[in-house]
This record gives sequence, C-alpha cells and structure tokens, in this order.
Amino acid sequence: MITVFIAVGSNLGDPVSQANVAIDALKQLPKTQFVQTSSLYSSTPMGPEDQPDYINAVVELTTELTPLELLDCTQTIELEQGRVRKEERWGPRTLDLDILLYGNEVMDSERLTVPHYGMKEREFVLYPLAEIAPNLTLPCGTRLDDLLKVVAQNGLRIWQS
Ligand code: ATP
Ligand code: MG
Ligand code: MG
Repeated sequence: MITVFIAVGSNLGDPVSQANVAIDALKQLPKTQFVQTSSLYSSTPMGPEDQPDYINAVVELTTELTPLELLDCTQTIELEQGRVRKEERWGPRTLDLDILLYGNEVMDSERLTVPHYGMKEREFVLYPLAEIAPNLTLPCGTRLDDLLKVVAQNGLRIWQS
C-alpha cells in the first residue's frame, strides 16, 4: 500500500458541497483506503482574480492503484462533478483533484508529475497538508515545516459555515 495525498479544490457550483462530494468519492476508490482529510479551507484565487474564492482540502489515502490508475480515477471524479476543461489557465472550476504525492515516488511523464510541480509554493496545499501530516518530508528531502516558514498563509483560513 502506498500513501498518497490528493489536493481538492473548487470554486464553482457550491464549492463546499463539491469538496465534500469529492472527498466521499475518494473514499470509494477501488483498491484504496481512506486515511484522513484536512479541514475545509477557503482561499483567494491564484491566477485570474475575477473569480470566486476557493474551497480547498487535502486527503490522505493508501492505495494499491498505480499512479496512472489513480490519475484516471481522480479525472473521472472531476468529470462526474462537471469539470469542463477550458482554455484559461487556473480559471474557475467545479472540481480540481491534484495528486500531490504518491509515496516517495518522483515521476515526470506526459500525464503525471509527482510530486505535483506547484505544491511547494501553494499555501492552499501546504497548510491543509501540514494539518494532517505535520512531520512530512518531501521525496527531495525538503521538510514541510520548512516550506511553511517561507510560504505565507495569504487569504487562507479554515472554512466556517
Ligand atoms: P495546476 O496543475 O497548475 O494545479 P490545474 O490543476 O488547473 O493546474 P488541470 O487542468 O487540472 O490543471 O490538469 C492539467 C493536466 O495536468 C492533467 O490533464 C494531468 O494529466 C496533468 N497532471 C500532471 N501532473 C498531475 C498531478 N500530479 N495531478 C493531477 N494532474 C496532473
Ligand atoms: Mg490544480
Ligand atoms: Mg488539476
């Protein structure tokens, strides 16, 4: 079993429900066990600013799926929740599921790069991840708590209804 961390993000179509439905869908994946999820967070958008705030979370699973099988599954969940691929980079979306870490694997293929290329700079990934895995060290040897010292929280906060 490999430990994986998935970033959940949504800013369209009732993002809190989108995130909760996605977390439930991750719990149902084949050959996979749910370990834990972070709180839901709200964050201000990266990239285009004329879009709603995001809801974010990070989910920990253990899985026997291969990296690409896992990506197939997360992309299917995105599509089931109405994700439409648009031209605009980092534009609004009902659901984004990014594979942050797949054990200690380092891979860079056409469809999949792990660790996720943006995770070290993104507060909406690092803080939820630290909530559930405070002692994590990335495959490159960088400690998560060292990243938190240099990445500000910006507008990120735990979401409260
Ligand atoms: P970003 O990757 O900067 O967060 P995004 O999440 O909006 O942007 P997507 O449109 O969701 O980007 O994904 C674009 C492509 O990224 C996908 O088709 C997928 O094949 C590829 N990809 C590469 N590495 C990963 C990963 N670790 N997790 C999810 N998708 C990945
Ligand atoms: Mg993304
Ligand atoms: Mg994505």
